[in-house]
Amino acid sequence: MSRPRIVIVGAGFAGYRTARTLERLSQGKADITLLNPTDYFLYLPLLPQVAAGILEPRRVTVSLTGTLRHTRLVLGEADEIDLDARTVRYADPEGGVGTLTYDRLVLAAGSVNKLLPIPGVAEHAHGFRGLPEALYLRDHVTRQVELAAGSDDPEDCRSRCTFVVVGAGYTGTEVAAQGQLFTDQLVRGQPRWEGVRPRWMLLDVAERVLPEMDERLSTTADRVLRQRGVDVRMGTSVQEATPTGVLLTDGEFVGTRTLVWCVGVRPDPLAESLGLPMERGRLLVEPTLQVPGRPELFACGDAAAVPDLTKPGSYTPMTAQHAWRQGRVAALNVAASLGRGEPRPYRHSDLGFVVDLGGVKAAANPLGIPLAGPVAGAVTRGYHLAAMPGNRVRVAADWLLDAVLPRQGVQLGLVRSWSVPLDTDSPELTKAPSAPARSAADGHGGASGSTGTGGKTPEPTGAARGRGTPERTDTSHKPAPGAEGDS
Ligand SMILES: Cc1cc2nc3c(=O)[nH]c(=O)nc-3n(C[C@H](O)[C@H](O)[C@H](O)COP(=O)(O)OP(=O)(O)OC[C@H]3O[C@@H](n4cnc5c(N)ncnc54)[C@H](O)[C@@H]3O)c2cc1C
Repeated sequence: MSRPRIVIVGAGFAGYRTARTLERLSQGKADITLLNPTDYFLYLPLLPQVAAGILEPRRVTVSLTGTLRHTRLVLGEADEIDLDARTVRYADPEGGVGTLTYDRLVLAAGSVNKLLPIPGVAEHAHGFRGLPEALYLRDHVTRQVELAAGSDDPEDCRSRCTFVVVGAGYTGTEVAAQGQLFTDQLVRGQPRWEGVRPRWMLLDVAERVLPEMDERLSTTADRVLRQRGVDVRMGTSVQEATPTGVLLTDGEFVGTRTLVWCVGVRPDPLAESLGLPMERGRLLVEPTLQVPGRPELFACGDAAAVPDLTKPGSYTPMTAQHAWRQGRVAALNVAASLGRGEPRPYRHSDLGFVVDLGGVKAAANPLGIPLAGPVAGAVTRGYHLAAMPGNRVRVAADWLLDAVLPRQGVQLGLVRSWSVPLDTDSPELTKAPSAPARSAADGHGGASGSTGTGGKTPEPTGAARGRGTPERTDTSHKPAPGAEGDS
């Protein structure tokens, strides 16, 4: 029998762990292919520290080719899965398209920013789901403080120094907590910036911060945020967003140039496109992570609705812990479906949660023990170092540097507002500008560079179009319609 072909879509917590476990289990007897738009695994829980200037962006990435030596990495985004033909079509970062054929498929495409139909939000808010958004926020916040400091208009100064975060889950809470420390540090020690008073606001319709977590974590986080000066407003959200501010649901208009949208995530639309039974947008799977009626198809992580065997009738929440552990079970069950071992259900025991609030503060409940203050801070950082699959020394080095040196208050301006829209199916990529049509004679490809493969397809950058679609050994790979070399 030929070597089974296992394709994994998505190299986040779930997909990365699946690949890593399969490498060990298969011992070279299976072809493992990992399809992902970037060449790195992103450790999302440390993203707020990138936005706050504590960690440099590469620190929270782990090289896929450097750590998964027996897995073939295919750079691209899946945009169509043919369940009967057992193929995955994808668009690569330069506009080409290709097809992968599988015997087993693991869908681990994660989630994207959740939108709510609130006027102006899609246009004026930014999400916090990928590295480009974190880089954008770091630069944008720095720029607002600098512009405020140079402004003669007190109203302009106030609104540029007001930063509104919507959603008090772990992402929004960490962004606001870290953000207030970051902007305070930027202003501190600048005698000419005395009138600049950065204010972070944290809004949520819920009654308390971290509404889905243990109440003791919530109390700790609330106290730290308020002590730090964050304007915590529960039971409040945004009714309308404009270029100069937000109208709150309590009727107040708050002048701001910064609206960070952390109201939650929704599963990647790829899962929905399969036309299979869904549960709140997530692909319904059995406890073995197999899709009912499709024993060759597995799903895990944020994209999958996995029955929570500890709470009958409910599904496991979208967290890194679940995704990571489900990735291992998916690998074991893929191996079992190929005749190695017995299938097993996904069953978890809650190990607690950690929320980094910046400085030495955190709220944590490892193994159910509630912790606050520096002890929680140490546990939280230790947890992240242990949980990261690589780059630990660099992360620890950045933490050490941050403890002894002031943060760098410079903005590079590499990620622009329009390149990180809130409404995107690909938060891990920046959006390229829509380039005007150019003729082949000027060295560029077709008019739009679009592959015509639907909303998921990333637009290639002008530079990428200029280079054209590279030659590939994958026989199923062909240039995209409209890309250079197609005509
Ligand atoms: C800022 C932030 C902080 C967080 N902090 C915590 C925390 O402290 N603790 C915790 O437990 N959870 C935390 N989470 C949630 C946690 O990160 C997610 O639940 C977890 O990442 C889900 O893992 P996943 O593998 O399903 O998806 P992801 O980790 O998002 O990975 C999905 C992968 O699929 C790729 N992909 C997407 N679409 C396609 C496609 N069409 N084709 C190919 N590849 C595709 C993506 O590029 C990505 O690499 C946080 C999330 C965010 C955004």
